[in-house]
Amino acid sequence: MFGIKKVYLSREIAEHPYTQEILQKLKIEPEILKEDLPPVPLAPWPEVISWGKKVLFLTRYKGRFFRRCPGTKAYLCCGYHIFHIGQGCPLDCTYCILQAYFNQPWLTFFVNVLEEGFAELEVALKEYPFLRIGTGEFTDSFAFERFTHLNPRLVELFAAQESGVLELKTKTVSIESLKGLSHRRRTILAWSLNAPTISKNEEKGAPTVEERILAAQKASSWGYPVAFHFDPLIRFPGWKEEYASVIAFLFRHVPAQNICWISLGSLRFMPELKEIAYRRFPQTKIFSDEFITGLDGKKRYFRPLRVELYRHIWHCIQEFAPHVCVYLCMESPEVWQEVFGFTPFSKEGLSKMLDEAARKVCGIT
Ligand code: SF4
Repeated sequence: MFGIKKVYLSREIAEHPYTQEILQKLKIEPEILKEDLPPVPLAPWPEVISWGKKVLFLTRYKGRFFRRCPGTKAYLCCGYHIFHIGQGCPLDCTYCILQAYFNQPWLTFFVNVLEEGFAELEVALKEYPFLRIGTGEFTDSFAFERFTHLNPRLVELFAAQESGVLELKTKTVSIESLKGLSHRRRTILAWSLNAPTISKNEEKGAPTVEERILAAQKASSWGYPVAFHFDPLIRFPGWKEEYASVIAFLFRHVPAQNICWISLGSLRFMPELKEIAYRRFPQTKIFSDEFITGLDGKKRYFRPLRVELYRHIWHCIQEFAPHVCVYLCMESPEVWQEVFGFTPFSKEGLSKMLDEAARKVCGIT
């Protein structure tokens, strides 16, 4: 997974102590850039993406580390906030939106996160009554962990406050750096799950779904609250049985009362992603189904197919954990109503519903 072959540094952070700490772990001689950005090989964009997964760019971030998740126009948003630590991912999922989202193919990590980013976080945690914040929006939360050791520092920061929770979202299983920390249940470790067929064929470089669930079991045994994201749910021959068996395996290993939430999201993609993915993964079949263009311009399954997917997964979850908080990611109130028989409006909104779930499971009054 972490096959980094080349490291570029921005001149301005070359001597930064955190840069030096990272370089010591990477053991790769870096190149200090004269220009603002690393050079890109002369090749078509899809090929450049694979090259970029082995190239790390350490730089200073000049924007806002802490920000509201943009959500998607016209669908219910969960009021999430993002702590932007870097972008790009060494894993290689066929459906990954990042392939079409960024025009910079390399992995980027912002080394000024410790002073400038943490300062922004501390201010935000004082300003807002309650926050759910994640680092896994433009990368995997553990993508850089082997050489940055950032997550234990974040866990410590969140442990010292009462007004927010941190969600570290991942498909990886190397969580040992979080063992033995005094986290006070303010950090939620979350895994993206899928059916084994999808994981095997479409999530290149990622541990198996069983391995992810066993990592969640381990995190639970260390006292961390956990969460799961069945996203993107994908239809294929046998999807009902496979998703059902993953859910059964999940509840055999992870105590339901330690789960903050389980989100469900169906496959959705910008039209340009399909072209890129076909060039990079010509054997994939995930885009051959009945899709419509949603109100946000993204392709998504025809509505009855989405409802069928969500209902099935939800019923499987209910068999084991009728009280766990399950929500739909970026869906319309009409779909909520069809799947659950209620909309978040009846619970004062999705944001409030998730805040309450976090407070309850994390023990925050
Ligand atoms: S793990 Fe997430 S961020 Fe990484 S390639 Fe897969 S979908 Fe993209």
